[in-house]
Amino acid sequence: MANAFPDDVLPEALRFRSPSPLVDIGANLTHQSFAHDLDAVLARARAANVAALILTGTDLEHARQAAALSDRHPGLYATAGVHPHDASGWNPTLAEHMAALYAHPNVVAVGECGLDFNRNFSTPAEQEQAFEAQLTLAAQHGLPLFIHERDAGQRMREMLESWRDDINQAVIHCFTADKDTLYGYLDLDLHIGLTAWLCDERRGHHLRPLVGDIPLERLMVETDCPYLLPRNLPARLKGRRHEPALLPWIVREIAHWRGMDEAALAAATTRSAAAFFRLPDSAVRATCQETTA
Ligand SMILES: [Zn+2]
Repeated sequence: MANAFPDDVLPEALRFRSPSPLVDIGANLTHQSFAHDLDAVLARARAANVAALILTGTDLEHARQAAALSDRHPGLYATAGVHPHDASGWNPTLAEHMAALYAHPNVVAVGECGLDFNRNFSTPAEQEQAFEAQLTLAAQHGLPLFIHERDAGQRMREMLESWRDDINQAVIHCFTADKDTLYGYLDLDLHIGLTAWLCDERRGHHLRPLVGDIPLERLMVETDCPYLLPRNLPARLKGRRHEPALLPWIVREIAHWRGMDEAALAAATTRSAAAFFRLPDSAVRATCQETTA
């Protein structure tokens, strides 16, 4: 019911409620754009039936903040890693600080880490070194990996191939690449995270015929908010900041392009996410609908 939303930040046409509880596996809620209204953002996520959120930790500072938020709010979990953009700052001390975070019960994955040869904010050599170090950490701590890859599919597959027996699970978050890269990742038993990229008429429509090729038990969904606001939303959102409450729209889009029922897809992605991140059953139950007095 649309009117169960706690406020009117989202226009009526954007108040979705997923028919089955969802897990947003990539939410950058430590981004400063959420600093002033995080409680309201979380309340809207609950109203949309987004039951659990994995906050992306892209460097030590944000990973610590994400872990701290997970202590304060039920249903929040965190990843801890160093994004390829920041790979030049990798050092052995950082590895020790990260290792301390992996002992935190709500830190459920190593990452965001990986390779981004699109922008090369750190050199490819620096990126490979930092990624290699984080693969080592994932293997040591028995944690799954939350991976970022852009224009580096070939090298990513090579590196993961040599690690595949040592790491347990890995997800390529915000998958944007082509069919060959997708099949290469599936051959390595990787999971795939989908965002609203497939709603982007400028660069993402090639994904539409591909989403049906991802086995349901390997498919997870994410907003990557505040980035990647879906470009085909049925109403305009003031401020254009993406948020977890809009995840049901992305699931609906994927369901459409898979030719399947939205509720069944929602339930499948939540099963995959719960198993992948080892979330407790209590974390993936339907959220209460707040009643209006
Ligand atoms: Zn990313």
